[in-house]
Amino acid sequence: MKVLVVGGAGYIGSVCAELLLNEGHTVGIFDNLTEGHRRAVDSRAQFTEGDLADCDRIQSTLAAFQPEAVMHFAASALVGESMENPSKYFRNNIGHGLNLLDAMIATGRKQLVFSSTCAIFGPPERLPIDETLPPRPINPYGESKLAFEKILRWYGEIHGLRFVALRYFNAAGASENFGEEHRIETHLIPNVLKVALGLMPHVEIYGTDYDTPDGTCIRDYIHILDLAHAHILALKAPKSELYNLGTGGGSSVREVIECCRRVTGHKIPVVEKPRRAGDPPRLIAASEKIQRELGWRPQFQSLEAIIESAWKWRQKFPNGYGD
Ligand code: UDP
Repeated sequence: MKVLVVGGAGYIGSVCAELLLNEGHTVGIFDNLTEGHRRAVDSRAQFTEGDLADCDRIQSTLAAFQPEAVMHFAASALVGESMENPSKYFRNNIGHGLNLLDAMIATGRKQLVFSSTCAIFGPPERLPIDETLPPRPINPYGESKLAFEKILRWYGEIHGLRFVALRYFNAAGASENFGEEHRIETHLIPNVLKVALGLMPHVEIYGTDYDTPDGTCIRDYIHILDLAHAHILALKAPKSELYNLGTGGGSSVREVIECCRRVTGHKIPVVEKPRRAGDPPRLIAASEKIQRELGWRPQFQSLEAIIESAWKWRQKFPNGYGD
């Protein structure tokens, strides 16, 4: 297929673009390089530097490239930042996302895979989180993604858009060539690995008084390659759907740090800090629906394998993408 990967220079988008190319698809990448990196653009892809705020730019890119499907990863994605600057999240994730949808409709492009998030749920009534649980986001990031999912439904009904929204739990790990590198790093695993590389003196634990066995937050870490594979399956989905995407297992912040100690051999000092605003205590996915309907099977079930891949990439590129 011919696929336009919007946000294809970012962490998840770059690995999805790589996998699409490895499987013989033709890939265009559209990215404004504010969060993404030029070096994360696969050299086999056709690259357009552009911003979704610019309606003409995205429309002309779609008209010229004529993709059969679009994957949309371009968004602001930090829970903590969204609690300080909600406007950025509603503007980028809803307003600029609408520019993409309108440009797709104007150019007759009707298939979309959308990068959604478990943050749409907020603290759940029960675990694991399946698709029937009511979404109740507790931060503007989750709210913005939930709003966009609802918009997709209406674009489906009114314009015939076919979409699959994938609610990622915690994407982690790396491929051989592409990994997780944010200019301002707030994510747990890359921060812990920075300590192991000697780039930071210690890692901070945000909250040790949660109602969990060791007092720290529990997340469902899913390997980036498993996640990318789900996007490729989503291209073949027969109808519009929403799917949760995780492994069904959970690891606490302390367990992640302990696993990083084993993988890296570094002692990784920690400093305990108060809770970070907007963090639900436990998020664990039920992914039976995508397994049943699209045949998705995660290949990397262990946290160790995920962290090993992230560590391998970090050692190969200690300065990340260097920009
Ligand atoms: N976290 C932490 N120290 C860090 C970064 C994150 O204790 O340096 C915690 C964070 O509060 C959350 C978990 O690790 O409970 C996962 O956070 P991350 O930002 O990686 O992903 P999120 O779940 O927010 O999408």
